[in-house]
Parts: sequence; C-alpha cells; structure tokens
Amino acid sequence: VEEGVSSIYAAPGDKGSVAQYRSRYGHYIGGEFVEPIKGEYFEDITPVTGKPFCEVGRGTAEDINRAVETAWKAFASWRHTSPAERGVILNKIADRIEQNLEMIAVAETWENGKPVRETLAADIPLAVDHFRYFAGVLRAQEGGISQIDENTVAYHFNEPLGVVGQIIPWNFPILMATWKLAPALAAGNCVVLKPAEQTPASILLLFDLIGDLLPPGVVNIVNGFGIEAGAPLASHKRIRKIAFTGETTTGRLIMQYASQNLIPVTLELGGKSPNIFFEDVAAAQDSYYEKAKEGFAMFALNQGEVCTCPSRALIQRSIYDSFLADGLDRVSRIKQGNPLDPETMIGAQASNDQLEKILSYIQIGKEEGAKVLTGGERVDLGGDLTDGYYVAPTVFEGQNSMRIFQEEIFGPVLSVTSFDGYDDAITTANDTLYGLGAGLWSRSADICYRAGRAIEAGRVWTNTYHQYPAHAAFGGYKQSGIGRENHLQMLAHYQQTKNLLVSYAEGPMGFF
Ligand code: NAD
Repeated sequence: VEEGVSSIYAAPGDKGSVAQYRSRYGHYIGGEFVEPIKGEYFEDITPVTGKPFCEVGRGTAEDINRAVETAWKAFASWRHTSPAERGVILNKIADRIEQNLEMIAVAETWENGKPVRETLAADIPLAVDHFRYFAGVLRAQEGGISQIDENTVAYHFNEPLGVVGQIIPWNFPILMATWKLAPALAAGNCVVLKPAEQTPASILLLFDLIGDLLPPGVVNIVNGFGIEAGAPLASHKRIRKIAFTGETTTGRLIMQYASQNLIPVTLELGGKSPNIFFEDVAAAQDSYYEKAKEGFAMFALNQGEVCTCPSRALIQRSIYDSFLADGLDRVSRIKQGNPLDPETMIGAQASNDQLEKILSYIQIGKEEGAKVLTGGERVDLGGDLTDGYYVAPTVFEGQNSMRIFQEEIFGPVLSVTSFDGYDDAITTANDTLYGLGAGLWSRSADICYRAGRAIEAGRVWTNTYHQYPAHAAFGGYKQSGIGRENHLQMLAHYQQTKNLLVSYAEGPMGFF
C-alpha cells in the first residue's frame, strides 16, 4: 500500500480479489477433501458483512473415526522420518505460506473480521515463523545417555505419541492451527484437527495450498460443532493426546473426556489479564510514555478477541486522571472500519453470538454501576457493512470486584481502576480466577522484576504487550490452563521418553 493511499482489498467472492474460497468444503482426510459421511453441511458467515460465503462439512463421530484411522495408517511411516526430513517439510510449508501471504491474510480477514493490517503484519508472518522455528529447533533436541555403572547404559529417545487430537477456537484461526500443528508434526505425530465452527474455511484454504507438501493422512481436518465433532475427537479411544484452546468451561469437559482414556491434555483457556501502569511511566512525556499509552489501548487489538486481552487496566492513583485522559485520547484515534482496508485498526467481532455476548456484558457493566468513559455500543458502518458485527472500543471505570473485571468478555472492552502502591497493585492483579497474561509498565527495572515474579500469570509482558514469538513459552496459571505452547519445551508435550536400559556385562546379576 502506498503511503496515504487507502487501497481496500476486494472481498473474496468479488472479481479481482487476491483470495477466493471454494463454495463448498468437505473434510480434509488422507490428503484430499472428502464428503462428510452423513452428507450435511453448514454455512460459514463472514462477520465483515454478516452474510454466508461458503459451506463446510458438518462432521460427526463417523468422520472422526475415519480421520483417526487414516492418521494411524500414515503414522506407520511418518514415525520413521528423521528430524531432518520433517524439518525440510516444515520449512517448505513455511515458504509456501510466505509466498502466498497476501492471499492467506485476506482470506483470514474475510472469515474472522480482523483487520488485514494485522493478518498481513502479524498473524500470517507469525504462522510462517512458527513452522520455521519448529523445523530448526527439532534438530537441536537431544535424548541423552546415562551411565548407570561401568557396564550398564540408559539411552533416552524422544518418541512421538502417535495420533493426537487438536481442537481450536476462532480468534486466530490460522495461527492457532499453526501453534498446534507445527510442534506436533515436528515431534513426529499425526494429527486430527477440529477447527472452530465459526472459522473453518481459512484453514481449509490453507490446506488446499500446502496439502501436497505432507504425506497423505499426516494431517486430517474434520469440521463441525463442539458436541458433534469435538467431543468424539477428545474422547476417542485411539488418540494419544488432546490439545485444546478455548473456553475454561469447555476445557473442564475436555479433561473429563481425556480421563476416560488416561491421555495427556494441553489446555489453553480464558483470561482476564491485568495491565499495570506504575506512576513512573509519566515521569517524562517522551517516546517511552507514547509506548505506555499504546499499551493502554492494546485491549482493542484483534477486537479484544484474544485470550490474553489486557482487559483490566490498573493505574497508580497519583497519575490516574492524567494517564487515563491520555490513554482515552489514544483509544479515540483507533480507526474502525472495513477490515479489508489496510488503514483499519479495529474490524468486526468474529460472530453474531460473540457480538451479542459483548453487548450483554456492556449492559451488565452499566447495571453494576461502572461508568462508560468511551464507546459502549454497536457500530453501524453503513452500506454493505451495515449487518457486520462491529463494536466501538469501550472503556469502563469501576472496581475489580465487578463482573466486567472478573469475567472474560472477549471483546474490545476495557475495565479501568486505580491502585495505591506496589502491594495493592499485585493484590488487585492477582485477584482473578485466571492467570494467562499480564502487562507491566514501569521505568524501574527493580519494580519490573519484582512485580513480574509476583504476578500469577504464565506470560508477563514488561514494557510491551501482545508479542507472540515462537521461542517464548506461552500458557496459563490457575484456571487459564495446563501446559505450555511455543518454545522448545513444547516438543516434550508431544513426545514420550523411551528409555532403553542396556547391560553390557558379561555375567549374570547374581540374584538367582
Ligand atoms: P469454545 O470452548 O466454545 O470452543 C473452542 C473449540 O472447542 C471449538 O472448536 C468448539 O467447537 C470446541 N468445542 C466446544 N464444545 C466442545 C465440547 N464439548 N467438546 C469438544 N470440543 C468442543 O471457545 P470459543 O468461544 O470458540 O473460543 C473463545 C475462548 O477461547 C475464550 O475463552 C478464549 O479465552 C479462549 N482462548 C484461549 C487461548 C489460549 O491460548 N489460552 C487462545 C485463544 C482463545
């Protein structure tokens, strides 16, 4: 895009669009698109206009069985590939995505409603980076040899689990699929993936593009709804692990299903992340201060549909009024509009259900007596977008005990309150069931270190927010989940250790 020129991407379906969806997708099983066994399809709706744009197969237990059996057949040879061979394939996938970045970014925007400036600059480049990271890091993984005594040696091998199940949400369709697929494949597993029913098509479009790079059956995708397709996958007797990202309430069910077969779970669940601004952020009106103000506005990134959305801002009382005013000024400059316009900063909520959930929480906040400082309503962008799911960035002022401070809204809604000193900041930050993310803003390395260690969250961003590099471990404390994603340690979540204990002694042990 030339500077100052707003060149809106054509909508998929229109002539001249860089991305075109098929009008109908089945499941992706054994390296090809297949009809759902029961022959049923459901509509995929773009939140940009609120209109359906394609049909997707509605999976059931029968489709899950077929996919799991196909994956086991593929595992028979995939398990014997070397780390180097798998690394080559993952790198080719990364290259193919990168070569088609603009097309995939537009497709992702169309299906999810997030601005194309984010899919172009973050979602899809991060997906590329995740495949490359696991392609490389996999070769650095070592087993290990322990010398038990002079004649006895224990060898440790990292072996894949087998066929694993993965269930993902709708907020970062391609990136969430990548977070799950890249480490599982690197570790030598075969996969059955169930995308969210709100956003299956961009992942299917991706497999239209990269499917030929993998042996058939190594990745299988069954679409459909939670109870109809997700539950049969998570409770399937022949999967060796279930990895899930979604709501905390669904996470509890997933753990119950997994307990029936005693398989490991990885759960990435909800959050209510605090974003803490200590008084020294305002010590000077410099570029650091600009960065802190942007940090305040980060709740609106991805329309607030991020599990780590910094949805609670805690501001030290001594700077409360002035910093809040500056933060609100920054929020007022967030440009809302057509997500296909590269200048748009906040687009559409991913679904009508999500739109209604957000609006109901805005109502709850008002009824609780929280004060609306900005926003607080649905936005009608007119024309083709009039039925799209747009919500104004909303800031409430209230207390941490309120529901809008305690419950995950998953929308562009920020709840702000003040704190008195360091101890109060930590107590308020930790006064939540969740523990996924947190933001810390201070010019003092001492405060950053102490507060960073004291906050009960798996990821504490310090003087930054919403960065998701492949080599930083990510996951929740408390009810935000179990296990980690990203980082080398992720490989261990998709492997089991084989210990080969070998005696080279010539004689018997002497017991019998
Ligand atoms: P959700 O739990 O309703 O759905 C997530 C996935 O689970 C979907 O694919 C859905 O079909 C499936 N599912 C639903 N019920 C199921 C069941 N009984 N058995 C098996 N599968 C089932 O969540 P959502 O509304 O799609 O996603 C939003 C939630 O995801 C938010 O709470 C958010 O915090 C969380 N999230 C967490 C992370 C993280 O990394 N921690 C990342 C993104 C989103």
